[in-house]
Amino acid sequence: MKCPYCSHPDTRVIDSRPADDGNSIRRRRSCDVCGKRFTTYEKVETIPLIIIKKDNSREQYDRAKIEAGVLRACYKRPVSADEIQKTINEVETAVFNREEKEIPSSVVGEIVMDKLKSLDEVAYVRFASVYREFKDVNTFMDEIRKILDK
Ligand SMILES: [Zn+2]
Repeated sequence: MKCPYCSHPDTRVIDSRPADDGNSIRRRRSCDVCGKRFTTYEKVETIPLIIIKKDNSREQYDRAKIEAGVLRACYKRPVSADEIQKTINEVETAVFNREEKEIPSSVVGEIVMDKLKSLDEVAYVRFASVYREFKDVNTFMDEIRKILDK
């Protein structure tokens, strides 16, 4: 993005977080040429982010998919709608702060698991079991043990 101060065509993102409207990302940018900093609000749809799926196919990043996974994991758990939205916001912030144009779905999955772990352990195990495609009861038990060992 162009620097509004010196018109240098390229600026660096130093921080990204979801804006209050939920549809855009607030970004702090810094210009390496003149050293000025400024804030932009960018619509999520306009930030090009491609998810690389396991079969190597690509699709446009979609917040709704993360939301669906988190909601499924939190089904009937004592987690409020606010906490769920906050968790999804944290995931989205972490994803966009990576500053990459393409991110493997596995990386997004790890970020979701990481956030769910501190939100609700049952939700975490549910998500992990779908996500990691536990082949047998042993891998599943390993994951449970990791939680219990904490
Ligand atoms: Zn500049």
